[in-house]
Amino acid sequence: MAYFDNNATTPIGQNALQVYKSALANDWSNPSSPYRSASRVRAKLECAREELALDLGVNKEELIFTSGATEANNSIFAHVASNGKKGGRCILSPFEHPSIIEPARHWFQDRLAYMPADASGRVDLDETEQLLNTENISLVSLMAANNETGVIQPWNELAELCSEKGIFFHCDATQWIGKLDSSVFSTCTSFSASAHKFSGPKGLGWLVSKEPIQLQLGGQQEKGSRGGTENYPAIASMLVALKDANMELAEFSKRVEWRDQFEQNIINTIPGTIVLGKKNPRLWNTSMILLPEFDNLSWIGKLDKRGISVSTGSACSVGDVLNSSLVSSMGLSLKEAGRLVRISSYSEEKESDWQSLDLAFSHVFQELKEEASRSSIISL
Ligand code: PMP
Repeated sequence: MAYFDNNATTPIGQNALQVYKSALANDWSNPSSPYRSASRVRAKLECAREELALDLGVNKEELIFTSGATEANNSIFAHVASNGKKGGRCILSPFEHPSIIEPARHWFQDRLAYMPADASGRVDLDETEQLLNTENISLVSLMAANNETGVIQPWNELAELCSEKGIFFHCDATQWIGKLDSSVFSTCTSFSASAHKFSGPKGLGWLVSKEPIQLQLGGQQEKGSRGGTENYPAIASMLVALKDANMELAEFSKRVEWRDQFEQNIINTIPGTIVLGKKNPRLWNTSMILLPEFDNLSWIGKLDKRGISVSTGSACSVGDVLNSSLVSSMGLSLKEAGRLVRISSYSEEKESDWQSLDLAFSHVFQELKEEASRSSIISL
């Protein structure tokens, strides 16, 4: 079995699982209850917040635990649209995750503009700077690294420009955290992340916001900004997962060679294969390839039978090619979009897994060609 869909989700890490199980068994009291077992959980929860804030280089008062990045991203758009400048506009990249694009459309409607981007999936900073000089901008949002191509965006430069101009800048850091240095986001007004992308538990993430923000009414948790009983076991587990990931960052970055070797091999064995965003800086774990023949579901089905899991792209937009922001912004035709396959590793995958993946692609290519030639004979 080889799992190469880690940008969709990662398996939980061993240490994170142990901590999760132990906290579920022992630290299950409601942190808001008025007796000692509950106070102990409250104290542990606040300790976890402090440690995470320290690791992220932010103030603990700015850190709010959420159910994941989707909630964190949604809440920023609702917040700025309701509290920002009247009639203010929003600017975002054309290939943001749906949890950014959809709230942006909902709250800003015709006051929404997209950053110019090149065909290899990176925002053009100079042209975006021109956009920033226009009137009345309430919110700028740019992801740190793209979930489909892995292309790293110029979010830091843009965060600094926005800060100079006093514009609210949000960064969806979901695919970055746990793969690259997570302590570099203090230039952003707000940023979001999700535990299950770095071997933490599902249904947990965070929002860091320099502006006070109201996410959910109905309780005094998270200093009144997000009502609802806190999930301490998942928080403890997430913290361990991030610490484990941060210790491996130097080792992770070397694995770019395994990915690059795979890409070189597949270009050689399946001529005409294109790697999306290849000329840009990319996450070390991600490869989005455009295959020259056969639809991606045929490739994925056959690879699956060989014990290899890969994906067509963002799990959230599988089967929704027409609405894929990546496809339109990179100028791909619908036919090409139907030949895209995303491969994403994380901490578990070894060099030999990348090598067997490469071999599996060439076997599947042979199978698909044979099937295609058989069916053309039958149709004669
Ligand atoms: N943003 C990006 C870039 C993502 O890849 C994802 C996960 N597909 C999300 C946001 C949503 O994260 P969550 O599953 O925690 O809601």
